[in-house]
This record gives sequence, C-alpha cells and structure tokens, in this order.
Amino acid sequence: MKTFTGAQIRQTFIDFFVEHGHTAVPSSSLVPGGDATLLFTNSGMVQFKDVFLGTDKRPYKRAVDSQKCMRVAGKHNDLDDVGRDDTHHTFFEMLGNWSFGDYYKKEAIAWAWQLLTDVWGLKKSNLWATVFKDDKGNVPTDEEAAGFWREQPGFMKENVLYFGRKDNFWEMAELGPCGPCSEVHYDRGIQYCDKQDVPGHVCRVNGDCTRYLELWNLVFIQYNRLSPDKLEPLPATHVDTGMGFERIVSVLQDVDSNYKTDLFAKPLDVLRSLTGNSEKEMLADFTPYRVIADHTRSAAFLIADGVVPGNVGRNYVCRMIIRRAARFGTKIGLKEPFLAKVAEAVIATYGTFYPELEKSRGAILDNLTREEIRFARTVESGTAQLQNLLDGIRKSKSSSASKLDGQRAFDLYATYGLPFEIARDIAREQGLDVDEVGFRAAMDEHRIASGGGKAMGKMGGEDAEFFTGILKDLQRKGRLDEHGVEYDPYTSPRVEGEVLALILNGQIVQSASFGDEVEVILPKTGFYVESGGQISDEGFIRSLPPFSVEEGGWEIEITDVRKPSAGIIVHSGEVISGQPKVGDQVIAEVDMPRRHDIMRNHTATHLMHAALHQVLGPHAVQAGSLVAPDRLRFDFNHPEAMTPGQIERVEKIVNDAIAADMEVISKLKAREDAIAEGAMALFGEKYGETVRTITITPLSNKLSPGMSEISSELAMVTPTAAVEQLEKYSYELCGGTHIERTSDVGAFLIVSEGSAAAGVRRIEAVTGRGAYELIARRFKTLKQTASILKSSIEDIPQKAESLQDEIADLKKELLSLRTQSALSTFNIQLSNVQTVKGAAVLAVEIPNSDAETLRALADKFREKYPKNGAAVLASGITVISVVTEDLVKRNLKAGDLIAAIGGRGGGRPNLAQGSLPVDLKVSEALAKTAEAVKEKLK
Ligand code: ATP
Ligand code: MG
Repeated sequence: MKTFTGAQIRQTFIDFFVEHGHTAVPSSSLVPGGDATLLFTNSGMVQFKDVFLGTDKRPYKRAVDSQKCMRVAGKHNDLDDVGRDDTHHTFFEMLGNWSFGDYYKKEAIAWAWQLLTDVWGLKKSNLWATVFKDDKGNVPTDEEAAGFWREQPGFMKENVLYFGRKDNFWEMAELGPCGPCSEVHYDRGIQYCDKQDVPGHVCRVNGDCTRYLELWNLVFIQYNRLSPDKLEPLPATHVDTGMGFERIVSVLQDVDSNYKTDLFAKPLDVLRSLTGNSEKEMLADFTPYRVIADHTRSAAFLIADGVVPGNVGRNYVCRMIIRRAARFGTKIGLKEPFLAKVAEAVIATYGTFYPELEKSRGAILDNLTREEIRFARTVESGTAQLQNLLDGIRKSKSSSASKLDGQRAFDLYATYGLPFEIARDIAREQGLDVDEVGFRAAMDEHRIASGGGKAMGKMGGEDAEFFTGILKDLQRKGRLDEHGVEYDPYTSPRVEGEVLALILNGQIVQSASFGDEVEVILPKTGFYVESGGQISDEGFIRSLPPFSVEEGGWEIEITDVRKPSAGIIVHSGEVISGQPKVGDQVIAEVDMPRRHDIMRNHTATHLMHAALHQVLGPHAVQAGSLVAPDRLRFDFNHPEAMTPGQIERVEKIVNDAIAADMEVISKLKAREDAIAEGAMALFGEKYGETVRTITITPLSNKLSPGMSEISSELAMVTPTAAVEQLEKYSYELCGGTHIERTSDVGAFLIVSEGSAAAGVRRIEAVTGRGAYELIARRFKTLKQTASILKSSIEDIPQKAESLQDEIADLKKELLSLRTQSALSTFNIQLSNVQTVKGAAVLAVEIPNSDAETLRALADKFREKYPKNGAAVLASGITVISVVTEDLVKRNLKAGDLIAAIGGRGGGRPNLAQGSLPVDLKVSEALAKTAEAVKEKLK
C-alpha cells in the first residue's frame, strides 16, 4: 500500500471525481442554512437536500465535496462512542460524490472500486460490499448493485452480502426521496478484532468487533415514499455517497485508530508535551486524549462557523463539549486552561483546507480559554455536589434509583454549569446513570419560565422608557435618590451594594440562573460607561459575603455597561455560577488589569494630541478617538499624510514625555474658567456647567533627563510655546480615566498612520503591554527573517539589498537567455513564412517573451524582409505586428492586423503593439493572420 498524508487523501478523492466530470463544491457550514429541524449538518446530503426534493437546481449534475459534519445531537448522536472507540467522532469529515439525475449505480460502483483499489491500492480481497435485500419482502432486492460489484476487476464474487432495511435502506425523512444503499466495508485482518478472547465470537461485516470497518456508503435514490408502505419510482435517480474521511485515512496509513493518523498527530503531540507523558503512557490511558483531541477539533470548527459557548441549542453543545474536554483534561492532570494550545494544533492541521479556521483563530482561542476559566470556577463544587447526590442514590438501595433524577441534574447545570453529559459521564463511571428525558424537560421548562427566546427590547425609545420606569419605581421605593444610580469610575473600582433589579430577555425578573445573560442595576457603580472614545469596563459582580455556591453564592461576568436613560446604569453579562436574586448583597469589581491598559492608552492619547500640535501645528485637533485596552485610535484634522519623519518625531516626543514621569491631575472646574485657561475642548462636544479637566504637568523643580529632551523638542517649535507647554504639557476637558503619572504608560508605539476621511488622518498606536507585545512580535519576525537570510539582525538591510542586486542581475541574465532562446525559436519559425498575394507573411507564438524581445524579433523579420513582408508575433497575451512600408502603402496597417485577429492595440502603421483577450487561444488568433492580410492587401 502507498502512504499518503490526510491532506493528500482528501485531495486525491476530490481530484479523482473532478477528473470524472464532477464539480468540486466547498463544504457547507456546520449550521444548516434554512433548516430549523436540524441542529447540525450531519452528512454530506444536507446541503443538497433541496436538489433531491426538486426545489433547488444547481449548475452541475455531478459534484464532489468534503463535508464538515457533527453527530452529537438528535437522530445522529455518536457522543457515547466518542473517546471510547477509535472510529466515531463528534465532528468528522464526510467525503462524497454526487449525481443529480445523472450517472447511477454502474458508474458509482465502478468509480468507487477504481479509487479504492487502483488509486489508493487497497487489497481487493479485503473489500466487502453490502447491498439491500428487504427483510419485509416488499421492496425488490438490489441485484443490480450486487451485479455491478461482482463485475469489478478482481472483486471476490462471494464478498457481496445482503442486508435489510436497518443497514441498507436510506430515507431522508418519514416521507420523500429514499432508496437502497450499498456499503463498502474493509477487512483489516483478524489482528484488528477486539473480541478475540470472547468465546464463540465470530468476526463479520456489520458485526460487533473492530475487524471490519464501514468505510463508505453509496446511496441510490430511486423512490419517493408516499406513505409508510407506499413507494413510487422517482422520475430521475440520484447518487449520494458518504465516506468517513478519518476512517479511510486510518486504513491508508495502516493504523488501528483514527486518532493515530496524521490528522490528530499535532493535537496529541501538544497534549503529550503538556502532560509530559510518553506515547506509551498515553496509549495506556487513551480515552482522555481521544476525547480532548476530538472535542477541541469540534469546538474549533463550531466557533469558526459562529457557534460560541452558550446556554441554548447549538451554543449549549459547544459549551458542553468544551467543558467535557476540560474535565477529561483534569483526568490527565491538566488544570490550567490548555484547550487553546490544542486548538492551535487543530488550526495548523486543517487551516489550509478550511481557511475559516485561520480567519477565526482569535475567536477560537479566546472562546475556549474563557469557557475553561468559567468552568474551572465551579466544576469542583459542582462535581462534589453531584457526588453527594450519587452517594445518596447508592445508599437508598431502592432498585428504581440507579438513575439520578433529571430535575436534580438540571439544578446542577443551572447552579454550577455542569452539563448533563458530564454528570452522566461521572454517574456512569460509578455504574449509575442520569435521567435524560427528565433533564431535557426541566431545561425546557426553565427556558419558558425565564421568557427565553423573546427578543430584548434594546431599541431606541422603547428601551429608555422601560428603564425610566424602573428608575421611577426604585425612587418611589426609596432605593435610589433623585440622582439615580451613583457613578464613580474614578475612585471606586470596587463597590458594595444590593441588587436593585435584574433584567432577563427584556423583562424584570426576581432571580436568574447559570448561563443567563442578565442585566443588573446597583445603587452605585465604579464601572466606566463608554464615552469620549473610552470603551466600557468589564469585570465581575459577586454575591457577598463570598458564599460558596451551595450557600447561595453566585457570580456574574460583566462584559458591558451602558446608560440607557438618565439616572440608570446597567451592567450586562452572563451568570457564570449560582443563582443571583434581587436584594442580594454584592461587590462589583472592575477588571483592573484591563482598565489599566485602557488608562495607559487614554493618557497616551492626550500626550500624542499635544505632540501632534507641536509637530504639525495647532490645526491638528481631535476629530474622533477610540481608547480600548489593546490600542488607541486617534483621528485629527490634517490635510495630508504625515511624513515618516513627522511620525517618528511624534513617537519620540510622547516617549520622552512618558520618561519625564509627569503628573496627570484631574480637577473639576467651571466650564468657562477651564476654557479661558486654554483647556482643549472639542468642537461639537456638549459639556455641562462643571467640567472635568485633565492636566499633564512636569513635576515642579525636578527636571528629569527626559525633560531636557522635551524642552529641546519644544524649542524647535517656538521658544515661548515651549515655556508655556512646560507649565502644562497638556490640558484637556475629559471625562475619561487616566493613570497618575505618565511613566505608567510604559512605552508608546505608532502602528499606523492613514486617511480616515477627507482632511482627517488616523493614527493607531499601542502602549504598555500592547507595546511590549508588538515589539516581541516584530522581534520574532526579525529573527525569523535573519535566519531565512542567514544573517544577523543588524545585517538584514544590507543582506536584503545585496539579494535585490543579485535578483536584478539574474533577471538581466534571464532576459538575455530568453532573447537568445526566442531568437533561435524565431529563426526556425522564419522558414514557416507563407506567401499571401505575393507578400511574405509570418504569424508565430514565441513563448515566455516580453514585448521588448518581440520587438527585437520584429526587427529581425524586417532585416530579412525589408520589403513585401508582414508578421504577427505573440507571447501569452502580448502581440506585436510589423508591416513593411510598401505593404502599408497597399493598405495593410500593423494596428489593423492586430484588430483583425481579435486583439486590441495601437502604434504606427508599420509597427503596432497590443494584447489578445485572455480567453482567446493564441494559436487560433494567429491562424487568422494570413486571411486578414489577404483581405486587407490591395
Ligand atoms: P456507523 O455505523 O459506523 O456509525 P453510519 O452508518 O452511522 O456509520 P453513515 O451515516 O452511513 O454512517 O455515514 C457515512 C460514513 O461516515 C460512514 O460510512 C462512516 O465511514 C462515516 N461516519 C459515520 N459516523 C461517523 C462518526 N461519528 N465519526 C466518523 N466517521 C463517521
Ligand atoms: Mg452511526
């Protein structure tokens, strides 16, 4: 057998069918389009369903694809097998070839055989085919398919087996298109049987051991089911096939597990390096590795298709598989978030064929880590609680109670985020089980009770009215005073208080549960609400005192804060543990590391604003701004692009100001006073009577080394400005949050400068941690470049220059070689001159030549035929035509000749240059030359 990589196997499948007239079609999304009945795409057929039903038409009759599938919910749910066996995954790829009313059984079987045996070299005697024979005797036996199998060269005639409806009859739904199918099974040999020690065990196709592997299912759609016992033949017959990609790869790579193929090698390598286990140790306890590798792959593909962890439907599945993977991680000693590292390996394996993974890299890694962190907060209390319940069941000894009650299982989910599937894993590990039907019922009930599914009334006036109502109500009850919610993002990163209101799905509720997206109103908050370009804070609201979840403790991860109407500030986020209630005492804590990043960027924005004034002039005022944790963006008025020198100067001035360790002071002032003092106010911005000002001032009497640099920089502008600026380096009206000393900014780097709108430029920059990351990334690139160029970092420019020179020399050399070779081709072609109306006519293609070469050859032609000659020379789409003067006088013009053969171009009557349309064959165009000369020539 030949060895192929997984990627090659996928590609040979596609290429093979493309060669047989199929159109290669991309995989559709894991989320089925326009099919509410199906949670996930679970076979290749899903994207073609409407074609079979006759309600959709495609521009092709034959297709080939590799379809992303998930079998973890609904009719196809293989979760129980995943991790326990080596052949089922939650996510897998299904290779398929399709005929829509085109070829049928004969070709489908012959091509399957050719691909498996000729192309891939599988041993013919090991291949078995099953065909349909109705166990109820109503539908005819598929002797047609059986006959085609027996016809295949080298097929063992006795390797056709007949099976009934369960295995070999395929139906899309209760009614509609259906038909018999024929499966290909591969006999891996007796050594692959996992039941060798079971007395009386016999290995057989569709049996219960691992010797025969189902590889491929060829479905022949030929009937339409009208009722449970009525079939009618379809006017057109179709072929729908599905081959398990990971399985064929395991066979072709001759390994006894899908997980031992190169498709899983990288993720498993990562896991081994994290656990420090050897391959042998891994194989001795393979299940956790298989589960993690499988589930991470599924989660990565799901997130790339827009399905992120959540509480309902598809999102629940995404959450469940991530949490399940994380729990299996703890079984092999992995506690810290680790799935992102495994996902990197998945992206490295699949990113080329499925570019959506590369595109969603950030979202994939981020969602995995976030979900792991959330789960880690509650998993221990959740599993401890489950253990209590399971112990209780064991003690009660009643025979009916080997199952945990579904409502109890749901409570575990609602409070601790312990998914049903994980509770069941744990119960089963102890010989018990969990009632699934009861769990689903409790979940549905909860969803209805919490008003799930209703859209939030977040739009415009309606929203404001809703919250004004809440405000008035709270004021009437004396819970809020006339100012409403107290807002202090400047001095209170941690605020204690009582939950005044909870809002779920746009409705006021008294309590919420794990996974709910809620909005919370507190009497006071330290969370900054987006304004003046600075984005809102994130953080946590936690119950007080810090109860454990059993004692009623809970936690909400706050991801947004907003002010829907005057006097009201709402925190929104997801309940990550417990069940928050109105009236609970809480502490609301801003995520301060994130806030510090934001503050660094905000102070740096002011420093840069001042620096822009110094370098560009006072017209460079702010026109827009974004202050985020990872970057700052600043738009300002300036008519033209900044020069590299100006950018460098701004960067340097800001970094000097950082090094000068200046004080950042905020003060409340009367607006008019502040403006009179020269504070920078933004045109069009509305300010109240009292404004907050931010002043950045050098520390008095203490000129640090950085300061003298600033003064010299400033002196370059105007001496008086420099003195004034030294008193107040920057002075702005600003409601944002700032660090106390400029040195806290750390470092400032401009990432880009470009146009934002007419007359407005935009700078993006990073500070602090962001600057460090940028530097580290750039250094890495430099080091890589140096290693590619085999030089030191310092020598890169020189090395690159000398490479450029070398390339230029080589180009020159190549050109001269090409000309030589073109010339010799041309000299041979000169003998192909035809005579048309007495003139020598030449039309030739000189491959790989540029226009210059063609012109040189045209001169050669003229040398040989100074009179009475016309030639058309082409290379690719470039074409040159040359006509001697005497023929020009006989009405033959070079430009007309190019037009006559289908090209476009211009020039002089005796020499013209142009191009041929890309879709025109050069030889066909050239063949028209003689005719054209004949027509034109008088
Ligand atoms: P099995 O009986 O092995 O579960 P199936 O009958 O459910 O397979 P089909 O619905 O016919 O499978 O799907 C077509 C092919 O997809 C199968 O022949 C098999 O190779 C592959 N396949 C099916 N389920 C999975 C899975 N969970 N993981 C990986 N491959 C699968
Ligand atoms: Mg199956």
